[in-house]
Amino acid sequence: GCDCKRFLRNNWLLMSTVIAVVLGIGLGVLVREYGKLSNLDKVYFAFPGEVLMRMLKLIILPLIISSMITGVAALDSSVSGKIGLRAVVYYFCTTVIAVVLGIVLVVTIKPGVSQNAAEIDRTGSTPEVTTVDAMLDLVRNMFPENLVQACFQQFKTKREEVKPPSEPERNSTMDELVTVIMTTVNQENTTKEYKIVGMYTDGVNVLGLIVFCLVFGIVIGKMGEKGQVLVDFFNALNDATMKIVQIIMWYMPIGILFLIAGKIIEVNDWEIFRKLGLYMATVLSGLAIHSVVILPLIYLIIVRKNPFRFAMGMAQALLTALMISSSSATLPVTFRCAEEKNHVDKRITRFVLPVGATINMDGTALYEAVAAVFIAQLNDLELDVGQIVTISVTATAASVGAAGVPQAGLVTMVIVLSAVGLPAEDVTLIIAVDWLLDRFRTMVNVLGDAFGTGIVEKLSKHELEMDVTSEVNIANPF
Ligand code: ASP
Repeated sequence: GCDCKRFLRNNWLLMSTVIAVVLGIGLGVLVREYGKLSNLDKVYFAFPGEVLMRMLKLIILPLIISSMITGVAALDSSVSGKIGLRAVVYYFCTTVIAVVLGIVLVVTIKPGVSQNAAEIDRTGSTPEVTTVDAMLDLVRNMFPENLVQACFQQFKTKREEVKPPSEPERNSTMDELVTVIMTTVNQENTTKEYKIVGMYTDGVNVLGLIVFCLVFGIVIGKMGEKGQVLVDFFNALNDATMKIVQIIMWYMPIGILFLIAGKIIEVNDWEIFRKLGLYMATVLSGLAIHSVVILPLIYLIIVRKNPFRFAMGMAQALLTALMISSSSATLPVTFRCAEEKNHVDKRITRFVLPVGATINMDGTALYEAVAAVFIAQLNDLELDVGQIVTISVTATAASVGAAGVPQAGLVTMVIVLSAVGLPAEDVTLIIAVDWLLDRFRTMVNVLGDAFGTGIVEKLSKHELEMDVTSEVNIANPF
């Protein structure tokens, strides 16, 4: 009796979110059956969900900036270096494990072998980019040329085929281009000419902001007395931001109810789920094994505490990720769960979570590997060991490069496909089910970051205890 009451008191938000999901699914199914909504009605119907997404995205910017800067500034730079290194080693190892797991599953289950690609419709087409283009973009985005622009746009390369000019009128093609580099690619004796069109697309350049805040935080931390006013400022900003997150979370159940209902109404091709069923099962079982067996085991071995209890503490964040398929937009909730429910040291979360949400994506890495092999199977291509290794390496890179926004992994898929010579436009084969898989892989991405905080905290226990002065610097906003 009493225990149950306490549980409800501590978890009322989680409970209301779970209820919202159930109600949302019910409402979605009902309206779908009897509602006869026009396309316009559907937009109105999903409106409360849209508002939730806007609020979460709104808070990302102050959250990342203030948490990164204060997180780094609070630590002695040798300590933050060590913590950073541990975090990166953790990100890397778990991502590689996820990729290997994915490949083992897809090679054994062979979801694409019995099918043929022609059976599944190909809708839309994707622009051509190569691995090199994508890698360069990653570095470009690490160093944004304009900090204000980085708050809402990121750089993205596009390749366009250049048709040999019939008339000598080359200069007039220059209008909207930022960078134009002429490249000549020789493919099977046909010489195609490409130009590289650099452009900016909408979306926060989280990576660029992180890099800047990292450097900025270290610098003001080292300035001593003179820098203190800035450290205090960002600490106050961080506290205020977390308070706002708390307010947003009140609205969360309502937003989620309409988000999920709106999605159920919107999807029109459920048939495709049958066709791609085995592929989906492969991805989902991989994600399940990674999150229920592998990550908990690593946590158990290193931290020696109950991993499922830790995961339960993250439940609100995991559910949010499942509902909104964006690890960046889930970040505010991830912070709250890690700090308030799991009591992870703030000096760790401020550092490990923003970076993790951007580069550590176990779910995405696993998915990219499975999808690439699946597409190879559809194309009747026997992959040799070299190609499997190539897929592993590029899938890891593609997961690092993917932004924490819905379906970003589908875009960076192109890197993996082109690395083993598969047609890039074959991502269209899996587009129809991607929105669903995206939700689950995002949940695993968030779980990976969460376990990361616990593990890095444990590994850094010694340094954190030595560095007690900085603990005083971080006031508890609650
Ligand atoms: N939606 C994923 C995320 O935000 C990225 C992906 O598409 O795989 O973590």
